[in-house]
Amino acid sequence: MPVWSHSRLGSFEKCPLAYRYRYVDRIKRDIFGVEAFMGNRVHEALEFLYQEVGKKRVPKVDAVVAHYHARWAAEYRADKVRIVRRGLHADDYRATGEECVRHYYAEETPFDQAETLGLEAKFQFALDPNGRYAVMGFIDRLARPAPGIYEVHDYKTGASVPRESDLRSDRQLSLYQMAVRERYPDATEVRLVWHYLALRERRVMSRTEAELEAHRKQAIRLIDTIEAARDYPARESALCRWCEYRDICPTQQGALLIERAEAEAAEKAMRGDRPTDAPAGPATQMSLLGGGAPAGGASAGPTRPRPVPPPRGRPSHPAE
Ligand code: SF4
Repeated sequence: MPVWSHSRLGSFEKCPLAYRYRYVDRIKRDIFGVEAFMGNRVHEALEFLYQEVGKKRVPKVDAVVAHYHARWAAEYRADKVRIVRRGLHADDYRATGEECVRHYYAEETPFDQAETLGLEAKFQFALDPNGRYAVMGFIDRLARPAPGIYEVHDYKTGASVPRESDLRSDRQLSLYQMAVRERYPDATEVRLVWHYLALRERRVMSRTEAELEAHRKQAIRLIDTIEAARDYPARESALCRWCEYRDICPTQQGALLIERAEAEAAEKAMRGDRPTDAPAGPATQMSLLGGGAPAGGASAGPTRPRPVPPPRGRPSHPAE
């Protein structure tokens, strides 16, 4: 019996074909989107911060930032980290990650609001009494601000804060709340805390019994659907550009050809032998960024786009 995770369930919901590549065919990929790579480094930096706090020595923010950059330098490989958004560079994301760390430090200092019970804390439990539907995951930080009160902290490095209704229907932290209640029978309250680090925003919620029950049933239904699946249709979306299986996905071959031709044209243009049939001007670059014309109109010149937070951070723990 597989052990399910929020990532695995979400993978099927987003695109059954990508699910099949990853979980059925088990096609390995060791290439990261830069957003996930940056998210991992931010998580490591905050883990380091709380490890130090646990040893009764609160590090200076510069020490946490230095840890972040050291981990980035140690792990970064240009051939393994993919940057989808044209006009943005690894250093733009690196700078955004540093901002995330600094924001968190400024918001949470002096880090004595709660006892930390776990960092990247692994859990596993069953959604049903017979243990048929096992679920696992990792909680970024589990804390106890007072006896009987538990907090599930989740770090997000993406560029937007979901609406309250979306947070309320979020399955990931609902599963975490179930896990905490299972592990700590004295829990009278479980708070779910999302930290939107790039935006310096924080959201706190708890699930009612009825909501937890609805999430539990929905997850079981989804597992049944996945287990019964025999077809895994492709489900194209804007996220295809970040998909690790894009190179083998039949829906993407045309787009990949066009992008390769554009990249070659841009490279030639940079070398000064721009071909007449494939200009790669600023308007083209901006459309690939997902935005409109640059400020001042499309004729404003080939300025480098302003660094922006990434569209998605680390989706969930890499081991899920
Ligand atoms: S590229 Fe898009 S359609 Fe193809 S497998 Fe990935 S997510 Fe699915």
